[in-house]
Amino acid sequence: MSETAMITTVTAGETRTFDDLGRIVIPKSIRKALNIHEGDQFDVIQDGDIIKLVRCVPACLACDDDTDVQRMNKTFLCGECRDAVSKTLVEKELDDDDTKK
Ligand SMILES: [Zn+2]
Repeated sequence: MSETAMITTVTAGETRTFDDLGRIVIPKSIRKALNIHEGDQFDVIQDGDIIKLVRCVPACLACDDDTDVQRMNKTFLCGECRDAVSKTLVEKELDDDDTKK
């Protein structure tokens, strides 16, 4: 088998070009579909001729746990800390309502 015959080309999206610093823009449609935002971190993995981007799972900003971590505005919180923040916000709203009366 010739070397050219072994190359498999898979085109499933938009063609992008690396710039002189080695950067490439991930299409907006993919970023939106995968909920990718500026500042998200990825491991770049070489697998033969394929480059894989694997999103780094961030730890909770408040407790450093990495279970059930989700983005909240520009930070990441675990479920327990999200509940605590929500509860605090509700209590603050109730306090604010009391002081207005
Ligand atoms: Zn937490």
